[in-house]
Amino acid sequence: MSAVETSEPLLDQSEVLAAQETPAFAVGPELNPKTTNEDFSGVPGALGITIGLPTLIYVLYYALDAVPGAKVIDLCALEGYLLWFFGLVGLFYIVPGRILDGTTLRDGSHLKYKMNALNCFLVVLAILIARGFITHGELPELVFVADHFLGLITASIGSAFVLAFFVYFKSFGNPKTILAYGGNTGKPIFDWFIGRELNPRIGMFDIKLFCELRPGMFLWAIINVAEAHLQYRKFGYISDSMILSNIFQFIYIIDSSILEAKNLTMIDITTDGFGFMLAFGDLALVPFTYTLQTRFLATHPVNLTWLGIAGIVTLKAIGYYIFRSSNSQKNAFRSGDPSVAHLKYIETKSGSKLLISGWWGISRHINYFGDWLMSIAWCAVTGFNTPITYYYSLYFAILLIHRESRDEAKCSEKYGDDWKEYKRIVRWKIIPYLY
Ligand code: NDP
Repeated sequence: MSAVETSEPLLDQSEVLAAQETPAFAVGPELNPKTTNEDFSGVPGALGITIGLPTLIYVLYYALDAVPGAKVIDLCALEGYLLWFFGLVGLFYIVPGRILDGTTLRDGSHLKYKMNALNCFLVVLAILIARGFITHGELPELVFVADHFLGLITASIGSAFVLAFFVYFKSFGNPKTILAYGGNTGKPIFDWFIGRELNPRIGMFDIKLFCELRPGMFLWAIINVAEAHLQYRKFGYISDSMILSNIFQFIYIIDSSILEAKNLTMIDITTDGFGFMLAFGDLALVPFTYTLQTRFLATHPVNLTWLGIAGIVTLKAIGYYIFRSSNSQKNAFRSGDPSVAHLKYIETKSGSKLLISGWWGISRHINYFGDWLMSIAWCAVTGFNTPITYYYSLYFAILLIHRESRDEAKCSEKYGDDWKEYKRIVRWKIIPYLY
């Protein structure tokens, strides 16, 4: 079931809490079955990722020009990071937003979500622009981000650890808590890593949705601007490659805030628990590795040829077109939009229909292909000066292949023989005729 818009445009906190539906089904042991299938190869995989990925962030940091005198443990950076994080929590509460219902949960209830990511992002950008005017372009906040980059990495990783412990222990507080299907093995390290509770919340504040879209995603945009600012301070101009990099990634970031409601039906919100893996990915991995291109360009400006710009922009546009139109086509189809009534589909025993023509007849995850093409365009702006800036495209390919296999397992279980039939008609997983 998809997210449903409520007729009330804005509710205050007490009204929202009163509106929370009570569970329709009796809760019992069957509500939270034991997890038998451990993703990421279980405890060894969880430990490997918990140690390996934070290490990778530091390795990538040092692989590019390190800031002279920067400290790994930097209390100023920690203070700055906490101010950022809790400042965004404060904005969540005071900035208005629509209230939507999430999908139906296992106990028959729905959660209410406040959709104000875009409004909060606009407030952050307005503050930044105002600071630009007040400080005559000096923007000490951006200088702080560039100077304390290493300390901010540590602060964000530390925060991910703290948050993961907090939600893990919180998940034991209430026997009616809905746990993630994948996070209830009873093995503390694995459950802590993968996420035990499905929707950890404090009242209306949903920790998972907040982390998915705000502290890391917004910081990603801010870091990119800080790197452009650094390039200007160092070289007296901003290169075309830096401008493209900022624009490409900014479009992606603001898009995710505009489409905040779509998250309510995504696997991350409907199925995954919130543990170290998501906390770390959201808070640390996204802002401090997705910005490698602008970090490189800040100290090594690349001036592109017109042909280079045309090629990169075309690649980005094609990727964006495939990504956006395939996702929109599926959403339109699932919501019964007449504009896609001509598309062919198969009926399934589960009641849901599966598209077999249009974008979804070309490959089973053509949207991932568009997303990945965009990632190549982002990396290509740095030219062929270093392999480090191509990290994003490589990492993203691994993420999407793994995600495809998880979605495949989910759909195979949900649709059974109908899924086999769908796979017979739509042969390719992601890239038509290749994969
Ligand atoms: P998808 O949007 O690809 O949705 C998969 C679901 O769609 C399936 O579980 C199934 O759900 C339904 N479905 C599958 N095939 C069909 C079909 N033929 N017809 C109708 N419905 C179908 O999944 P994601 O949430 O993984 O990705 C959403 C977007 O987010 C993608 O574009 C992806 O690239 C992007 N993304 C970006 C990330 C980043 O870090 N930048 C990370 C993850 C995703 P059902 O049970 O309803 O049938």
